[in-house]
Amino acid sequence: MTIRTDNLIGGGWVRSDSGREFDVLDPATDEVIASVPLCGRSEAGRAVDAAASALPSWRATTPADRGALVAALGRAMLEDIETLAGLITGECGKPLTEARGEVGYAAGFLEWAGAEGPRVMGEVILASASDRRIVTLRQPVGVCALITPWNFPAAMITRKLGPALACGCPVVIKPAELAPLTALHIASLAERVGIPAGVMNVITGDAAEIGGGLTGDARVRKISFTGSTEVGRLLMRESAATLKRLSLELGGHAPALVFEDADLDLAADQIMVSKFRNAGQTCICINRVLAHESVHDALAERLVERVRALKVGRGSEEGVEIGPLISDRGVEKVERHLADARASGAAVLVGGGRVAVPGCADRFIEACVLTGLTPGMLMWREETFGPVLGLASFSDEAQAIEMANDTDYGLASYLFTRDLSRSWRVSEALDFGIVGVNDGAPSTPQAPFGGIKQSGFGREGGHHAMDEYLDVKYVSMRVGDEG
Ligand code: ADP
Repeated sequence: MTIRTDNLIGGGWVRSDSGREFDVLDPATDEVIASVPLCGRSEAGRAVDAAASALPSWRATTPADRGALVAALGRAMLEDIETLAGLITGECGKPLTEARGEVGYAAGFLEWAGAEGPRVMGEVILASASDRRIVTLRQPVGVCALITPWNFPAAMITRKLGPALACGCPVVIKPAELAPLTALHIASLAERVGIPAGVMNVITGDAAEIGGGLTGDARVRKISFTGSTEVGRLLMRESAATLKRLSLELGGHAPALVFEDADLDLAADQIMVSKFRNAGQTCICINRVLAHESVHDALAERLVERVRALKVGRGSEEGVEIGPLISDRGVEKVERHLADARASGAAVLVGGGRVAVPGCADRFIEACVLTGLTPGMLMWREETFGPVLGLASFSDEAQAIEMANDTDYGLASYLFTRDLSRSWRVSEALDFGIVGVNDGAPSTPQAPFGGIKQSGFGREGGHHAMDEYLDVKYVSMRVGDEG
């Protein structure tokens, strides 16, 4: 199947109005993989025109028929897993096995939403007046704009796209400039499975121009965004004039609490899964490990042993576990965090340097474990977004919770213990939208993923995701007496 490098607007594959393009680079080598349209405000307007025109018929399509199309797109992605995984690794650098895993995960959101669409229901509410009946309807919010990041170029789209389409909302997708090819391929699969023209539009290009076009258009009733807290705030401000609904999945800063009764091998394995997936470039990956003082050293030893075994290299090479960072800016941030931690007294136990990979750009960082993390450090405050794991110790449960909650972010958190009561107590006390108990990979299409505080609001996945794309309307009926 050919790889699309043009944009999908209203069922037509188009270039930008100006004919201008931008290059998509392989972050491992800086090779140009493809060039895609550099669109802006006018193309965004036309994509909204197309979605708005598609709204009446898509809204009127039965939930069963919409759900079947959404599920068919998920199956088409699985059938084309190698192409998609190759594109993901090519444009975002992650190891091929992880890219294949992402395709399965991404397709899962479509399967789930496709099945959930026909289960959207209203209610009959008992009114206080005997001559009244009240029913609620749940109806699609309308045209939705989906703005997604580069780190999961397939899954961040499908977990918005699945519920939006299943609920009856046409969409305009703006994928990240760094990784637009996966999005365009998903759009070509959508066309192949028969998702009607205008229901799914994808435009690439200037983020601020397209973003401004989407937020400024009153016909766009909802924006679902995954990305930085800074851009999330901007979109919220820009959406104020037209009072759009918003779902914002923003940055994270996950703590992992390892208690004295934890299974340390399990904790170390799960911390590795969480921390080093996509070279630490995920919003739910662990930024701080907080270990009880009695197990801190034993845990650090286990982590160092595991980190030493990680293979760094091009994501396309089988067996590689740590690929390149996405950009020089990403590398610079990780090194800044490392230098800051060292200068403030942290001890690096392993890694942290750059690794020269033959034929590649200088963007590979050795996975790193350091101890002596303290609240004054950048790593304590900001998302590092790289393969660096910092440890600190605590002496009791109350202190551990206080340290964990000492962040403006509130997306994911983790705890490791064998004590059931402690699992409950600490889960309830953590100020985060997601808690993994002895589980370093809690994300799944069935669960309501999302954050609190500066990590945003709204949920993606599970039945909660449907609420994000539905308005509640009630109808009050007066019922008269017979005759
Ligand atoms: P990251 O740091 O992960 O790249 P960003 O928040 O910069 O996160 O990007 C996430 C998404 O937001 C990308 O698709 C990007 O193009 C988009 N984006 C960035 N700036 C704007 C903007 N001003 N308006 C709309 N979208 C934007």
